Amino acid sequence: MRWGLCPPQPGPAALAAARSLWGPPRVLRGPGWRGTARGLLERSVTGASNQPQNSSNGKYRDTVLLPQTSFPMKLLGRQQPDTELEIQQKCGFSELYSWQRERKVKTEFCLHDGPPYANGDPHVGHALNKILKDIANRYQMMRGSKVHFVPGWDCHGLPIEIKVLSELGAKAQNLSAVEIRKKARLFAKAAIEKQRLAFIRWGIMADWNNCYYTFDGSYEAKQLRIFYEMFDKGLIYRSYKPVFWSPSSRTALAEAELEYNLEHVSRSIYVKFPLLKPGPKLASLIDGSSPISFLVWTTQPWTIPANQAVCYMPDAKYAVVKCSQSGDQYVLAADKVTPVASTLKTTLEVISTFSGVDLEDGTCSHPLIPDKVSPLLPANHVTMAKGTGLVHTAPAHGMEDYSVASQHNLPTDCLVDEDGIFTAAAGPELQNKSVLEEGTDVVIKMLQASKNLLVEEKLVHSYPYDWRTKKPVVIRASKQWFVNIMDLKTTAKELLKKVKFIPGSVLNAMVDMMDRRPYWCISRQRVWGVPIPVFHHKTKDEFLINSQTIEHITKLVEQHGSDVWWTLPPEQLLPEDVLAQLGGPGALEYTPGQDILDIWFDSGTSWSCVLPGTDQRADLYLEGKDQLGCWFQSSLLTSVAARKKAPFKTVVVHGFTLGEKGEKMSKSLGNVIDPDVVINGGQDQNKEPPYGADVLRWWVAESNIFTEVTISPSALNAARDDISKLRNTLRFLLGNVAGFNPETDSIPVNDMYVIDQYMLHLLQDFASKITDSYKQYDFGKVVRLLQAFYTRELSNFYFSIIKDRLYCESAHDPRRRSCQTALAEILDVLVRSFAPILPHLAEEVFQHVPYIKEPKSVFRTGWINTSSIWKKPGLEEAVESACAMRDAFLRSIPGKNAAEYEVTIVIEPGLLFEIIEMLQAEETSSASQLNELMMASQTTLLPQEPPTMPADVTVHQGTFLINLEGGDIREESSYKVIVMPTTKEKCPRCWKYTAESSDALCPRCAEVVGGK
Ligand SMILES: [Zn+2]
Repeated sequence: MRWGLCPPQPGPAALAAARSLWGPPRVLRGPGWRGTARGLLERSVTGASNQPQNSSNGKYRDTVLLPQTSFPMKLLGRQQPDTELEIQQKCGFSELYSWQRERKVKTEFCLHDGPPYANGDPHVGHALNKILKDIANRYQMMRGSKVHFVPGWDCHGLPIEIKVLSELGAKAQNLSAVEIRKKARLFAKAAIEKQRLAFIRWGIMADWNNCYYTFDGSYEAKQLRIFYEMFDKGLIYRSYKPVFWSPSSRTALAEAELEYNLEHVSRSIYVKFPLLKPGPKLASLIDGSSPISFLVWTTQPWTIPANQAVCYMPDAKYAVVKCSQSGDQYVLAADKVTPVASTLKTTLEVISTFSGVDLEDGTCSHPLIPDKVSPLLPANHVTMAKGTGLVHTAPAHGMEDYSVASQHNLPTDCLVDEDGIFTAAAGPELQNKSVLEEGTDVVIKMLQASKNLLVEEKLVHSYPYDWRTKKPVVIRASKQWFVNIMDLKTTAKELLKKVKFIPGSVLNAMVDMMDRRPYWCISRQRVWGVPIPVFHHKTKDEFLINSQTIEHITKLVEQHGSDVWWTLPPEQLLPEDVLAQLGGPGALEYTPGQDILDIWFDSGTSWSCVLPGTDQRADLYLEGKDQLGCWFQSSLLTSVAARKKAPFKTVVVHGFTLGEKGEKMSKSLGNVIDPDVVINGGQDQNKEPPYGADVLRWWVAESNIFTEVTISPSALNAARDDISKLRNTLRFLLGNVAGFNPETDSIPVNDMYVIDQYMLHLLQDFASKITDSYKQYDFGKVVRLLQAFYTRELSNFYFSIIKDRLYCESAHDPRRRSCQTALAEILDVLVRSFAPILPHLAEEVFQHVPYIKEPKSVFRTGWINTSSIWKKPGLEEAVESACAMRDAFLRSIPGKNAAEYEVTIVIEPGLLFEIIEMLQAEETSSASQLNELMMASQTTLLPQEPPTMPADVTVHQGTFLINLEGGDIREESSYKVIVMPTTKEKCPRCWKYTAESSDALCPRCAEVVGGK
């Protein structure tokens, strides 16, 4: 059927626009060509299966060019992990780090590895952290930076020491410090080896031959130098202060080593402190008719024996009340009268009220020691949130109590020893009793006996526990070493302003945590660690440390490790002249101190041992959010103390790994996921199949790492399915570039099919978004972009329309080469875009690219390289308007084969017509670019509706808005899509309905076959 055609008469603007569409590439300058503003149209092709999907059609089977590749569609069972191991070998995973270090490139990217703790097996938390780092590193390396990534381990500390001791059981008691250290070292080494092998198996690229270990002599020596530098500046001092103390570990603990138990039950008590001497104002308010006491509330009854004062809030209102039952009078905060009366199950009649300042100069007597005086003191930390507004103050057992005591010169004696047991100083009734158990009980009984206990209640509240022994801690004053962080905080906060935090909100969290720390206690009373390098006088409260002693000790430690502190006699730990000054070996009155350094001080000084160059600043620290109060902070504080600069430029903080429903992973819940089982499969491989490392890596990348990261069997299964879809896309690409050599067969961009150019245009856009997302460490976005591209743009759209050109044109036909040129570019961009996430798959693909001779490694070939020529915003007008028409066509034949229909497109003369005409120059064609897009038997393009139409046609109308030159050219055109069944027959070769009779080839196929 032929309809007449009037040649369109384009206007000058339209011509200019059309020329710029297909003409030479324009240099983009500022706002001009608009970007991809309009979203992609619905691309899913339903009812269009007109392409030969297999080669079973008899005698023409050998004349079609089906995809050819040895790249497997699926890797089943063990094939996945086994293939990965082969690839690691073949593509030189282990040599990649040194290869990239040796390159002559200017830019360096330094990611400083926060050392994992050297105990226990590798777990998914490690996987999350190490894989994120590896993705960042591989991206930077491909972009041309020399990556510095030295992995390390935190090897000292209580968790290891306790584990070793508990394994030894009763034998542990007889072991010397040196023997414990020896066993702890072996334990740490075994854990390190296990973790190291796992990290390598996950594909982590790093300097595995030069890792850092906090138990290495050279590391310890540098740490001791920093310790002395800080001591010398007055930033480290020794003091007697209350600190968190773990009786179960017999050591001081830092805030970072505490876990808060929300379900802890304390015995809280209301205690009377009998009035001894009222201040002048209070004296005028009381008549002396009945005894008066101050009411105090505490959750820690065992601290009452150490009471030295009762504190009040000067600005608050207080009341003298009378108890209706006993007739006794009490003083407490006016606001607390009602709640306290209800707790005491009595009524309290207010006799008079007065201001807190009127308590000044008053005293009361200690409730257990009648002749001991407790002064009434004003204090800022008193609040009205809980209790009575009068605060029991035991300076040895509270940080705020201690500061009140320092202001008023009160004693700060501690009545509790290292095991949490009352000492003899607590008196015969309490001596040898554990403060948290029997000791509490005895104190309560003593208060009852002295008639000063009003009521006892059970209180469930949040209470600090030792992070390792899981037992409650106490606050206890002892002599410890502290970092004066008050002086460091201001500088540290100023420096943090220049650090980039991702996500940005964590900066405040870090500053908050710093503010909550009054001081940093860095001494521990254990043996598995770096000694605090001081000598204590045997009888006097004096210690010895100076530049000479430090110089001597650091040299010894550098050579022999810190074991020397325990193995060498004290005389040898001191330099000769210092020893001589002290009276020589025979008269030495000093012994080496027995404290070791907090492990956070150990790991916090890693910047000084690991970071390269004179600047010693890392581009990136990337750790879990638990490090905000720990390693990020100890690194910052030591670096600020030593050299007034932050050790990092960017800090990326990720969440924790949790079970499927956001629950913690624990052995008791049975939801622990072992990375080794993920990779190699579990005992029952039907339930726990071997996924390989790439699945683990994909799971990491696609997770929203900035919140909590959940892992579950279904998440891993979904990750495998995603990779499987990606694999199919890659296989299609690889199969269809068989026999193509980009060097000789490529078609210049401007000569390519419009649709192929359009794909390159989309590819350029995709590539720049991918690069941006990597830059922002938003690997989840990389995954989403990638998935959208390979499912929507490639599989559902492009691949569905190009099969005829690829399979049925002759091998060297420019139309086929045009498509292959695009496919080769797509393949290249795609592989690089996911290579940092899935290095094994990327290498496997690279091995199968037919035109890459002797492929070594995709990682040695750089980042995505797109051409600016590809960027042609105007292409969208052509393809998207044609797609709109195609969608109208396909909607009209639901579930039918589009190839069995003819389409006529009627567009009024104008810009849209000109644009569409570029896709089909002839009036009617079965081989045009427009018909390829339509997937129809043939397409006819007309500027006006035909005068007559057969009865069986369906007609669809639509409009399309053309928007070019940033809105300078806007033209809305209407179009009609007329659909009718074709009169042509199915070609036995290409299955298109383009043959004149059922037993004849279509003209195109006849030419292709005839030409062979
Ligand atoms: Zn054909």
